[in-house]
Amino acid sequence: MESDELYMQVQRPKYDCLLFDLDDTLYPLSSGLASAVLKNIQDYMIKKLGIEESKITDMGNLLYNNYGTTMAGLRAIGYDFDYDEYHSFVHGRLPYENLKPDPVLRSLLLSLPVRKVIFTNADKVHAIKVLSKLGLEDCFEGIICFETLNPIHKSSISDDEDDIEFLGSTQSSTASNGSPQIFDIIGHFCQPNEGSDGLPKTPVICKPSESAIERALEIAYINPLRTLFFEDSVRNIQSGKRVGLHTVLVGKSQKVKGADYAMESIHYLREAIPELWENDKIREVNYSGVGVAVETSITT
Ligand SMILES: [Mg+2]
Repeated sequence: MESDELYMQVQRPKYDCLLFDLDDTLYPLSSGLASAVLKNIQDYMIKKLGIEESKITDMGNLLYNNYGTTMAGLRAIGYDFDYDEYHSFVHGRLPYENLKPDPVLRSLLLSLPVRKVIFTNADKVHAIKVLSKLGLEDCFEGIICFETLNPIHKSSISDDEDDIEFLGSTQSSTASNGSPQIFDIIGHFCQPNEGSDGLPKTPVICKPSESAIERALEIAYINPLRTLFFEDSVRNIQSGKRVGLHTVLVGKSQKVKGADYAMESIHYLREAIPELWENDKIREVNYSGVGVAVETSITT
């Protein structure tokens, strides 16, 4: 009996789902998309939100570091704008032509008969465009994106009372001149001993928030203990680890705290985690003919 149990344990693949971040994970940072995104976000802050140019770099860094995305931070400190408009401004003019079909990654992915899901903070239009440029649009079961975690779109400040259903509620207030009052995040961090504790909450649900990751796992019926999470962001890796995921830092050859594996490029998947294929070989021998087709659309 004991030996039977051991036998079954050996046969069971360790992972049954691969969860992938998209940007700078499935394609390299050197493609130039990330720097173009940053430039577009800065332009949006200046041109659409009227933020002083001299404050952009500091404010952008503080928002990104404290809220996960600049957008989440802008909403938290009191700016109100349409999410779709923001996404189309930031992602609408990217050098997508720099992304080329990646047949190497495609065949790696297709050779792994486990669930494969995308989990990105970006919007659906961007995610689909990137996957199609890389020639990977049919390699994934579904996409968990901005719209999946933030299904209710807000376009005006008067809707804010409904934000209570989001993670944390914004406490945006209105100045006497009728324009929204903006929380001075640069001033906040200039004060001695001020940390992130006194910051306003954001209505936007995104990585690296642990509850955002847990929500994503729940939506896609993913068991973190049997899932490998691929990410280029160290803080997302660390949050992923805290919710129980097995983690792979992509884009770096050295592991960091919270990362179970590290690989310079997603192309090194087979070399870095050969057990993904070894398990599959064992399974094929023992369970041939038993296939379960899963058709789930996670994209909203
Ligand atoms: Mg990324």
